[in-house]
Amino acid sequence: MSTEVYDCIVIGAGIQGSCTAYHLAKNKQKTLLLEQFLLPHSRGSSHGQTRIIRKAYEEDFYTQMMQESYELWAQLEREAGVQLYRRTGLLVMGPENRKGFSQLKATMEKNKIPVEFLEKKEFNQHIPNVNLTDGNGALVDTTAGVLYADRSLRAVQGLYQTNGGVIKDGEKVIDIKPGDVVTVTTGSGLYKGRSLVITAGPWANKLMTCAGLQLPLKVVKINVCYWEEKIPGTYSVDHQFPCFIQMEPKEGEYDIYGLPSNEYPGLMKVTPDHHFILDCHPTYSNIIIGAGFSGHGFKFSPVVGKVLSQLAMGQIPSHDLSPFSIHRFQSNARSSL
Ligand SMILES: Cc1cc2nc3c(=O)[nH]c(=O)nc-3n(C[C@H](O)[C@H](O)[C@H](O)COP(=O)(O)OP(=O)(O)OC[C@H]3O[C@@H](n4cnc5c(N)ncnc54)[C@H](O)[C@@H]3O)c2cc1C
Repeated sequence: MSTEVYDCIVIGAGIQGSCTAYHLAKNKQKTLLLEQFLLPHSRGSSHGQTRIIRKAYEEDFYTQMMQESYELWAQLEREAGVQLYRRTGLLVMGPENRKGFSQLKATMEKNKIPVEFLEKKEFNQHIPNVNLTDGNGALVDTTAGVLYADRSLRAVQGLYQTNGGVIKDGEKVIDIKPGDVVTVTTGSGLYKGRSLVITAGPWANKLMTCAGLQLPLKVVKINVCYWEEKIPGTYSVDHQFPCFIQMEPKEGEYDIYGLPSNEYPGLMKVTPDHHFILDCHPTYSNIIIGAGFSGHGFKFSPVVGKVLSQLAMGQIPSHDLSPFSIHRFQSNARSSL
């Protein structure tokens, strides 16, 4: 048994846990990052070639968090000396008479996000090979693009270690004992931390059972297409073909996401309102939970990591976390400790 007491233990070396650990280490916190599988692995949600990054959201709070996230991604690129982001633009198409698309337009305008609005008659000049369905509007979020997912994960974990952080992989957490000092048991050891951050992705609820909490997370399917060019050059990023989102292809249907690659990342769990959970455990304020990152959490990870690290250090988070509170599910989130 290790007698060392860490300032913080982070469970889960996906992108959210790795970013949290990175911010903690940068803040001189003695941090341990525990991962059940040997790294790198492709069994969670953070692996693969690419993820969309964008500011185009219906909700103000996501657009505002993304303003900082872009800055933090640029900082990570500078610190690691590697390119993590590529600008492609993002084409958003959606039914003009429904709430989602008009709300997104309003949020973009309110937050002064650089956008090009495309009229139906000029659409094909800008985006050849794509048809804009009748009744749909279109806009391009010009600063959107792709993040190189595997490379980002490697870069963040590398920077975390450069800042003195410790990673132990191949160590599955099997028990958590809350207290002023939290005790975490893995298959091969026992660790103590003054605070604990749980960022276990699709395994969140399995682990949360040890901490006496069940969150209303459910598995969903999302529609993602990764295109390959049939005719060289037609859909290439080099030829300014953007990522795209088709909002609500039919009433009540899920949005379709398109991006340039040919791989499919793994699992996804969502909360009932599809927003994240970024909060302290209702009973133990030194146990912090980051969960429910759905199909869109990767782009936020530097800012998610920052706010989770602030909660773990007992600081006031630099973003309003009320949309992400556990208490919004009070009747569903069962705490039994
Ligand atoms: C198909 C698909 C497409 C997506 N597209 C986009 C996109 O375009 N843009 C975007 O921003 N986001 C996108 N996302 C979402 C994004 O990829 C996820 O939100 C993000 O990767 C979640 O990261 P995570 O760290 O929470 O989870 P994970 O990556 O799953 O990490 C959790 C980690 O915890 C570890 N763990 C679990 N239990 C234990 C335990 N008991 N002990 C030790 N370790 C444990 C796991 O092994 C895993 O490594 C997409 C997701 C999917 C599935």
